[in-house]
Amino acid sequence: PYTGPSVDEILAKRRQFLSPSMFYLYKKPVNIVEGRMQYLFDEGGRRYLDGFGGIATVNCGHCHPDVVDAIVSQVKRIQHPTILYLNHAVADFAEALASKMPGNLKVAFFTNSGTEANELAMMMARLYTGCQDMISVRNSYHGNAAGTMGATGQRSWKFSVVQSGIHHVLNPDPYRGPFGSDGEKYAKDVQDIVDFATTGHVAGFISEAIQGVGGIVEAAPGYLPAVYKNVRKAGGLCIADEVQSGFARTGNMWGFEAHGVVPDIVTMAKGIGNGMPLGAVVTTPEIAEVLTRRSYFNTFGGNPVSTAAGLAVLKVIDKDNLRENASTVGAYMKDRLTALKEKYEIIGDVRGRGLMIGVELVSDRQKKTPANAETLHVLDQMKEMGVLIGKGGFYGNVFRITPPLCFTKEDADFLVDVMDYNMSKL
Ligand code: PMP
Repeated sequence: PYTGPSVDEILAKRRQFLSPSMFYLYKKPVNIVEGRMQYLFDEGGRRYLDGFGGIATVNCGHCHPDVVDAIVSQVKRIQHPTILYLNHAVADFAEALASKMPGNLKVAFFTNSGTEANELAMMMARLYTGCQDMISVRNSYHGNAAGTMGATGQRSWKFSVVQSGIHHVLNPDPYRGPFGSDGEKYAKDVQDIVDFATTGHVAGFISEAIQGVGGIVEAAPGYLPAVYKNVRKAGGLCIADEVQSGFARTGNMWGFEAHGVVPDIVTMAKGIGNGMPLGAVVTTPEIAEVLTRRSYFNTFGGNPVSTAAGLAVLKVIDKDNLRENASTVGAYMKDRLTALKEKYEIIGDVRGRGLMIGVELVSDRQKKTPANAETLHVLDQMKEMGVLIGKGGFYGNVFRITPPLCFTKEDADFLVDVMDYNMSKL
């Protein structure tokens, strides 16, 4: 039984000793003390079905025994010898990760977060090309340091940073974008930026295959192939931010696979370590060379404990068939949610791929008026009934469903039934 401080005590400490910038999801926040696969438990032992997965992070499931064993056995041997000495863990993981990558994407640099991975990827693109101009997509999220905050395409996540060299292009959003699902029309905006806002040469283009924070928006079909072609013609590198869509979440290993492109640089975090702080930039040996021009170092990046977790994650993805499960359970849940759309006017759109699903709520289907109060209310009520999901989108009116990939059809049924019940009470 739980013997720690009460919810009120934790809240009081938070108020006094933690940054006032920290926020939580619910009016009455949950206190999570344990996790088992797709379930979370609060201090009273109440079980919640986790439909958010630590924000698309705990892909293998909470405290997956194989990942826990790998972490524990490594941490007992050596936690931090510094990356300046040899240790097998980082080399083994890099080799295994390379085997999961297409093309010549064979070398990795490890970081501790998605932000660091994207900062590094953009710097490498700039070094490799000798250009500064970088193209990013509106409504994207790429991180919270100066460069990545600049690349991020939503005002709510930007502080007053100098975002030099970033150009934000139209979001190829099939639901809200002006060209619907015509990816090539949105791609024209990227070419316009190259032609009218730069020398004609660019450092690169960075995008998520499916925007996570932005509300589960998948790039319109045909967009990425057309953009990659034009960016490369302008001398730029194409960076895929797989921080949320990677590691089997979409039913493929990588989100970009469904779009028929192979990036020049892939950035990863979140699911890579099933919750351990770990990120990576994976690229070609040729592009990786740019970092030898100076010394580039990261104290914790590639530490044996995090990379042992990473290796265990790759094995679990295969052993537990997580790609296939994400694909079949995801398709099943999306179908059921799409059926709910027939029942409730307030559901404007159901979208996503695999176990990365978005449900957008609007008070007027024609005008697509964001129904944020209702979104928050249903989110809260679902929690009361034992189901945790996320929320996002520029207007805060999209449910984000990104559970651990061990989610079953029964779990999907329960989640959708609970959503259905609470929609019926609106
Ligand atoms: N890229 C994407 C697509 C993300 O969703 C996030 C985190 N929400 C990041 C980058 C930044 O990752 P981190 O929080 O680990 O710095």
